[in-house]
Amino acid sequence: ATPTALLVGTGRGAQLGLLIKGPEVLESTRRVDTIVLDKTGTVTTGRMSLHGVHTAEDVTPDQVLLIAGALEGASEHPIAAAIAAAAIDRAATDRAATDRAASPNVLPPVSDFRNSAGLGVSGTVTVDGHAHSVVIGRPALLAELGVPAEDSLKAAADSAAATGRTAVMVAWDGQLRGVIVVGDTVKETSAAAVRQFRSLGLRPMLLTGDNRGAAVAVGSAIGLDPADVIAEVLPEDKVSTVTRLQAEGRVVAMVGDGVNDAAALAAADLGLSMGAGTDVAIEASDITLVRGDLTAAADAIRLSRSTLRTIK
Ligand code: ADP
Ligand code: MG
Repeated sequence: ATPTALLVGTGRGAQLGLLIKGPEVLESTRRVDTIVLDKTGTVTTGRMSLHGVHTAEDVTPDQVLLIAGALEGASEHPIAAAIAAAAIDRAATDRAATDRAASPNVLPPVSDFRNSAGLGVSGTVTVDGHAHSVVIGRPALLAELGVPAEDSLKAAADSAAATGRTAVMVAWDGQLRGVIVVGDTVKETSAAAVRQFRSLGLRPMLLTGDNRGAAVAVGSAIGLDPADVIAEVLPEDKVSTVTRLQAEGRVVAMVGDGVNDAAALAAADLGLSMGAGTDVAIEASDITLVRGDLTAAADAIRLSRSTLRTIK
């Protein structure tokens, strides 16, 4: 391979909105036969908003939102941002303007905050002098912390997930109190990108820490079979999914945006990050899709093939 043609290739990549780390990246791009897509922020916009609050009998949606919003205010996760923003909105409209001027903190204080990556958050939220031990996240995290499941709330969570939304459980003082449903939207270009990957001979797959119902719904919106959807994966298992596919003889591209994706991006034969993604994801990747549009990943594959054909 003449370096000149590869350099021309990376220059052409820049015009297509591809930041390519080095000319040699185009070689691995050409060999890829499987493309693994992170869900939130990669296939979807990653900008979550609140869709609903379901509660146990003894609490109100406002109480659940207030306590959950306070705890999530300490987390950086897109789910947390949606819940905290909704709680601040709700609390602010409930207070007189004079109160607001006196104390800008509308949400109760949090201590002992703990983030369990890929599972949820926990900590102490103090409301009117009462300290509550709060847990928010996946059923697995609540189970781990000894909170018993509750059938009617589980049903609410399952039906929200069936439409591609994400339901998180909210518990305090050892009891499940509610389910908060959040969601974002599938990017307009994601389904077209999946069709392009297939026509280039690649096998597209979806990989997420979100629950299976939500993941399958998003998969079907972009044309993926449930068999090609891998869900409820912990951050460390994103890497082992990539290495397992490689052990099966596949040459794997991984596309992601989050802190949770960085190790998988580095382990893949080709790592692609979203322009709006986290710094760690961008650093761990070989190519950054500047506009965050998955069709640019198909452009990268086509570019690598035409560049290397020129060289031969
Ligand atoms: P993804 O693979 O979609 O980027 P993550 O691995 O970050 O997802 O999270 C997986 C799941 O863990 C989420 O769908 C959610 O159920 C739960 N979770 C993670 N962080 C939080 C949080 N701050 N609040 C509530 N739930 C959370
Ligand atoms: Mg993501």
